[in-house]
Amino acid sequence: MDCLFCKIVEGKIPASKIYEDDQVIAFNDINPQAPVHFLVIPKRHIACISDLTTDDRALVGHMIFIAQQVAAEQGCDNGFRTVFNCNQDGGQTVYHIHLHVLGKRQMTWPPG
Ligand code: C5P
Repeated sequence: MDCLFCKIVEGKIPASKIYEDDQVIAFNDINPQAPVHFLVIPKRHIACISDLTTDDRALVGHMIFIAQQVAAEQGCDNGFRTVFNCNQDGGQTVYHIHLHVLGKRQMTWPPG
């Protein structure tokens, strides 16, 4: 399987890693859209949010929990935005699920 984020998990492609445990890693987005912009990804390959099964519920909860912990460490005291892009209409470009966390600027709504 040729997955960019699996290669980051395996250390075959470099990434600016800011958190790691047995289930997930977080790294700074290579093309940041805010002063803080990192991704939380599972180590296990799941292509898209629409592929989640009941077995993945704890893992996705853990991703969100780590997102808020790392956002606090990154100084997002005034809030932050979390985004899962899903499939074509959702604007997903990398098919290994990832939670975007953006902070340290005022976000707007609706998103593009
Ligand atoms: O949600 P979407 O699939 O569009 O987001 C993929 C994200 O992965 C982009 O924000 C892109 O900048 C990021 N990326 C990265 N490092 C790479 C390749 C992509 O941080 N090597």
